Amino acid sequence: VTFSDLGLAEWAVNTCKELGMKRPTPVQHHCIPKILSGQDVMGLAQTGSGKTAAFALPILHRLAENPFGVFALVVTPTRELAYQLAEQFRALGSGLGLRVAVIVGGMDMINQAQSLMQRPHVVIATPGRIKVLIEENPDIPAVFSNTKFLVLDEADRVLGVNFEAELRVIFQCLPKNRQTLLFSATMTSNLETLLELSANKAYFYKA
Ligand code: AMP
Repeated sequence: VTFSDLGLAEWAVNTCKELGMKRPTPVQHHCIPKILSGQDVMGLAQTGSGKTAAFALPILHRLAENPFGVFALVVTPTRELAYQLAEQFRALGSGLGLRVAVIVGGMDMINQAQSLMQRPHVVIATPGRIKVLIEENPDIPAVFSNTKFLVLDEADRVLGVNFEAELRVIFQCLPKNRQTLLFSATMTSNLETLLELSANKAYFYKA
């Protein structure tokens, strides 16, 4: 199986080649076609499995077709993970003039609010900081009113009780018809419940 067999645009296939990604990993092989077809996806995959490209490539494929608004919001539990995700998005989207904003704690909030108002294509955030920005700045919720993808990276950690209030605030600004993609290293009872309740019949991938 090659990246072009998965339905990705030629520019994306070429980018993979340039980055030394010769063949799709199993999580990419299974999840990319489902995401391109519009399904919600829950993937159980470890760091190092290629899970970031498994969601970033189909998101960038769709974004390249119609790049408007904040196209994707990616929520991840830590700052370090947020910067790593941003790096991979930038590398995979290098041919697109992609604008990525990283919204994490410890950075200036006024700058962060301004960068959100400029509607970057992809926002990568930790739950606490994005919640505060949404709540304290009345112009921010509208930034996400056309968002097509919500990704919960390390979803087992993001969906823990610690982030319940944050997720509620985030979910409220996103359109109902978005696609939701969850990637997690382990299956937890939170994730099981979510999978059962999924209105969109999520595709479930397990290595
Ligand atoms: P991740 O599981 O997303 O943390 O990715 C781990 C590493 O694997 C990243 O540095 C990617 O650049 C790399 N990678 C992702 N997909 C592939 C692939 N299909 N072939 C080779 N390397 C890959």
